[in-house]
Amino acid sequence: MHAGQIRSQFGETSEALFLTQGHVYDSAEQCEARFLGKDPGFIYARFSNPTVQMFEQRMAALEGAESARATATGMAAVTAALMGVVSAGDHVVAARALFGSCRYVVEEHLPRFGVASTLVDGTNLHEWRAAIRPNTKALFLESPANPTLEVIDIAAVAQIAKMADAKLIVDNVFATPLWQKPLTLGTDCVVYSATKHIDGQGRCLGGVILASEDFIQKHVHTLLRQTGPAMSPFNAWVLLKGLETLPLRVRRQTESAARIADWLAQHPKVRKLIYPGRKDHPQADVIARQMSGASTLIALEVDGGKAGAFRFLNALALFRISNNLGDAKSLAVHPATTTHQRFTPEVRAAMGVGDGLARLSIGLEHPDDLIADLEQALALV
Ligand SMILES: *Cc1c(COP(=O)(O)O)cnc(C)c1O
Repeated sequence: MHAGQIRSQFGETSEALFLTQGHVYDSAEQCEARFLGKDPGFIYARFSNPTVQMFEQRMAALEGAESARATATGMAAVTAALMGVVSAGDHVVAARALFGSCRYVVEEHLPRFGVASTLVDGTNLHEWRAAIRPNTKALFLESPANPTLEVIDIAAVAQIAKMADAKLIVDNVFATPLWQKPLTLGTDCVVYSATKHIDGQGRCLGGVILASEDFIQKHVHTLLRQTGPAMSPFNAWVLLKGLETLPLRVRRQTESAARIADWLAQHPKVRKLIYPGRKDHPQADVIARQMSGASTLIALEVDGGKAGAFRFLNALALFRISNNLGDAKSLAVHPATTTHQRFTPEVRAAMGVGDGLARLSIGLEHPDDLIADLEQALALV
């Protein structure tokens, strides 16, 4: 709520929005000293900005990280964290079940620059170990993963990374800063799309990279400054306001999701239900060890494959069809034809993204209203 606040001479209660590209100096000498790093202060918004710095320091405090850097989007955070660690000739190992764009970066973007990558079943530790090569420099995973809500044993993968002298980068979007602290499990770097629960009200894009000061200085500080995926001060200000209610929203959305998941699990038209808070989740033991709460997301398979899933989505009234998640409004999407559309059916099947799969992001509406909406929609499947 308070970490990192920079108050101006007006003593404002709320964080000020410093919508400025640059800063002025009292003298040429001060300007020189600022550029030499001898005079503390801001230079240019591509490097840093007071409102953006407030967001970074508040995120670092929330995550328990030494240092943070904000980026324009979650994908900018993922890309910068990975590209900051590897060089041509290196190798990356990543879990197969990834957000579509994350998988693109690992599978197609990095190889263009001479960085090989291997995708593994993230839940199988033997596969992680077997994929390690002498030139492996980074391991990357998402847990719970999008959209299958598959969970990976982060501490075990962190150990494999350490033995290989590689860096483990974890995309913690689905877990939120509230329910999982990957840094305490041995992760070197955590990334978020702040677009999701951190904003939580569907307004703006943002990302953040959290790690030790050493990691940030060695791998991302200069890369971000010189290549420019900077967060807008306006977005940082919106996200700071989002952080004030993040625990309240995520707690309520998770409670609603748990209730809805239990209700869906007993519905005859639901073929398969995946929810990290339930005992029947395939990695329930890992969840008990590494997460302090479950999820605001639910994955379910309805009868009738793609046609059944479409009938279900089209019949929903309160839930709106949208690929976003973590919003105050409940959203539903068909991953196979949207976020995971560009993969072949075989690859999708290997990722667990079947034609009947739907992903629900539970919002802040009353859970009774959401259940009533699901009930009438399932009746039409
Ligand atoms: C949305 C998302 C991203 C990308 O974030 P943007 O802010 O859209 O760039 C990355 N990883 C996961 C798990 C996401 O859900």
